[in-house]
Amino acid sequence: MASARAVRLSKSRYIAGRQCPLQLWYRVYDPPADGFDPVFWEGAEETARALFPGGRSGSAPGAAGGDDIARTASLLTDPGCPAIFEAAFAHDRLLAVVDVLQRHGESWDLIEVKTATRYDPTRGSAVSQPHITYDVAFQREVLRRAGIPVRKSWVYHLNPEYERRGELDLEALFRRREVTDLCEELAPQIQAEIEEFLALSPATAPAAEPGSRCRSPFECDFQDRCFARKPRHWIFTHLNRLNHHHRRWLAEGGVESVLELDATNTARLPDGARRRHLRFRDVYATGRPHISPELADDLEPLGPPSAYLDFETISPPIPRFDGTSPFQRLPFQYSLHLWWGDEDLRHFEYLAPAADDPRLGLARHLVGSLAHFPTGPILSYNASFERSCVDSLIRRAGESDSALADSLIGVRDRIVDLLPVVSANVIAAGFKGSYSMKAVAPAVLGEGSGYDEAEISDGLAAQRAFEDLAAGRIRGGRVEQVRLALLAYCKLDTLNLHRLHRALMDPRQLARSLTADPASA
Ligand code: SF4
Repeated sequence: MASARAVRLSKSRYIAGRQCPLQLWYRVYDPPADGFDPVFWEGAEETARALFPGGRSGSAPGAAGGDDIARTASLLTDPGCPAIFEAAFAHDRLLAVVDVLQRHGESWDLIEVKTATRYDPTRGSAVSQPHITYDVAFQREVLRRAGIPVRKSWVYHLNPEYERRGELDLEALFRRREVTDLCEELAPQIQAEIEEFLALSPATAPAAEPGSRCRSPFECDFQDRCFARKPRHWIFTHLNRLNHHHRRWLAEGGVESVLELDATNTARLPDGARRRHLRFRDVYATGRPHISPELADDLEPLGPPSAYLDFETISPPIPRFDGTSPFQRLPFQYSLHLWWGDEDLRHFEYLAPAADDPRLGLARHLVGSLAHFPTGPILSYNASFERSCVDSLIRRAGESDSALADSLIGVRDRIVDLLPVVSANVIAAGFKGSYSMKAVAPAVLGEGSGYDEAEISDGLAAQRAFEDLAAGRIRGGRVEQVRLALLAYCKLDTLNLHRLHRALMDPRQLARSLTADPASA
């Protein structure tokens, strides 16, 4: 139920409002009972502070917001303070906490530090990420209203080309983008939006049409509420490969449900897309899956004999090890099943110790395991991920063990992707428009997929668990439990990949498994 307090606008709320005013309204007046997911990543802000020697923090952990504002005000008047970290300001109902405020005589530079590698505010850039620029421009506006003279505005973000050698080189780690002029240009728009958001009433939720905005620039936390108002087979959630042009065309024709698709309202779509979307309609309407006759041909090169490979990774924003770059994938675990046909299935696995660069030990173990399977396809699901993991291993091996690097190149070249085989040949109501392993495996394998019972049941949870182990946040007997849970999860992924492969090889049984009651399809 909505509370009656007035909107106070921080930069995160402002950005939420820009994405969707209803999202802002929910955040303020009807937030989730269990709060929002905490941010998982270590941010770059702490690391960037070393670029400003002598800087002092305007905020203290656990302090009330008013204390931070008072501390910041005190530092502003201290000429011996060259920079203020987390400088807190309030003006009327606006709040801003600036990552770094750097003194330049009588005025200040506003610096936003982003844990992102790709940002180019130039209009038309593929990585313009406008929400970052609006974030800075909002802070700039709050400071202007608070009477703080700002000389220039900047975004510091991680340099994807930086490679660590020894101590962190902060000058090379961060790229600096000046956005002073852009912030000035955006000011009138920001001012209008601030007025609009501050005027939100607890009594009236703003209207908002769910769609692409719900996933960009961030996944909205309120999708469950808004999507529940849509038809069960809503085109946004229940079609696959529906690009934004197609969605717009269908929406212009008044189509909301996949079941409403017909030859007329899909006429503008390219032939391939139209055929595919109409197949989805038939599958949802009848509950019977579509299984293409070409499936057998597409499976032909995939064995058996076949190998099934899956990695779990960490991707630290701030490189921890020599030779690594921001967000580089570092595989810390793999699972490998080898299948020679019938019930001849063997399993190999490796989970790195949590302390050091995991790649070299993992690479040697993997190459050793694959010695049992020197030729033949190595199946993965969404293979670009596995290939990028092997690339990361090659990069590490190339520094000290060229023979190992050559072996890994051979591994990478044998990786093939089962996902496009499934998405090109099978449509089933149970997939609910998704071809992720977590959607496909339960539909094909039923309760045997095992994800529901697993202590760790997705890649993000695995990543968090390994980071917790590495940071010593897990101790004592719990360490072994978590390591076993990690091993069980990764093994389940390759086992399910193998089971999925086998299920695809028997289209009649596959059709039976995937047939759903139309009432629940
Ligand atoms: S789910 Fe979409 S429509 Fe609903 S509040 Fe979020 S962004 Fe807005």
